Amino acid sequence: MKHANRLWAADALLPEGWARNVSLAWDAQGRLTEVRSDTAAEPEQPRATGPLIPGMPNLHSHAFQRGFCGLTEYRGQTADSFWSWRELMYRCAGRIDPAQVEAIATWLYVEMLEAGYASVCEFHYLHHDPQGEPYPQGPEMAHAILRAAERTGMGMTLLPVLYQTSGFGGAPAHAGQRRFLHDTAAMLRLLDTLKPACDAQGARLGLAPHSLRAVPPASLTEALDGLDAIDPTAPIHIHIAEQVKEVEDCIAWSGLPPVRWLLEHAPVGPRWCLVHATHMTADEATDAARTGAVAGLCPTTEANLGDGLFDMAHWREGAGRWGIGSDSHSTVNAAEELQWLEYGLRLTTRQRNVMAEAGQPHVATAMTLAAVAGGAQASGRPVAGLAPGQQADFLELEPGHVALAGLPARDMLSAHVFGSHRTSAIRNVWVGGRSRVREGRHALRDAAAAAFVDVRRTLVAAS
Ligand code: ZN
Repeated sequence: MKHANRLWAADALLPEGWARNVSLAWDAQGRLTEVRSDTAAEPEQPRATGPLIPGMPNLHSHAFQRGFCGLTEYRGQTADSFWSWRELMYRCAGRIDPAQVEAIATWLYVEMLEAGYASVCEFHYLHHDPQGEPYPQGPEMAHAILRAAERTGMGMTLLPVLYQTSGFGGAPAHAGQRRFLHDTAAMLRLLDTLKPACDAQGARLGLAPHSLRAVPPASLTEALDGLDAIDPTAPIHIHIAEQVKEVEDCIAWSGLPPVRWLLEHAPVGPRWCLVHATHMTADEATDAARTGAVAGLCPTTEANLGDGLFDMAHWREGAGRWGIGSDSHSTVNAAEELQWLEYGLRLTTRQRNVMAEAGQPHVATAMTLAAVAGGAQASGRPVAGLAPGQQADFLELEPGHVALAGLPARDMLSAHVFGSHRTSAIRNVWVGGRSRVREGRHALRDAAAAAFVDVRRTLVAAS
């Protein structure tokens, strides 16, 4: 159908702000070829009924962790922490198989698409079988993730994780980590193996050194050199400074806190996503921000795990870029991540609309645009919003939703982020120009949910 690649909307959020009477067109590859405002709809052109906003890139996900949400919300010892949660996560990770990972990821991506995310960066560390041996047919876990993305239409940046040690200074990995491990040469072979499959479905391949505690300095250098030989612009993501204990251990090992150590020993720049970066000195924050790296913020997971609050004030002083991720998936909702980020700042600064910007006083609009731009950069994919050359990843808000009805478009987005009544105000979602969610539902929702519940029942029964 000729007009299938066109859409007109009375209101659309473009990178420069809200525009009226916007006509969109995209090509067979799903790239926007035209974004024109102040135009009349052509007679044959489909019309959106609600405002269009860009699809959100989710810059940090461990898909399998969706399978045990709700199972770690009780006190197991007097001081429950990230580290006791991690023990439970390792128990779950210890027995899951590729078919189960595919079922969990398929459901998770359905949920993400219905909740405003159009692409995801999968920080993928569950590589081997439960004994720590490579799967005989190759990287089955990575292929399970890629299939889930393909089936659901989710945009994908696959980030195989390099994991070698259990602590700073080369402490050997322990049994709970054996499914994660590769020497550096094996990791580079894995990237070579996965590249054609990623290219074939429009996924981007990058690398995730897990953290400074899991990757010794020589391996980090060697892996980054090897990645450059495969793709010199590939994204690089790393967990960093999430926990106070990690900062203390890094100082004990090197004399420097982790972000400072990384800035002094690695070529940190716009290809990099610093995931969490929760515990930084003021100087670390502004210096890291000035490199052009993206801060990968996961507000609901950071709250769930008791990590702490990101130092946005000093990050912004360095004109820092940022995006959002759902990480452990205790919440799967792009609007809620933005809400939590802003609320953390309101509570600590005792001010309102902290993330508004000089040119954009409406905080939900400012945050959406910043998180889409930062998320796109971290994804290494053209998903930076409604502009020619970018993918046609966008969603339509439901103008009849009780939280939104009758409001101007920009206030509909504010209500979506800050007042949504805990039901979705997302009506339709397009990824790469293809309709993936209609009337709030993904076509696979029922089948994927049933498969997910079956897998979870099996995993819980085995624990
Ligand atoms: Zn993570």
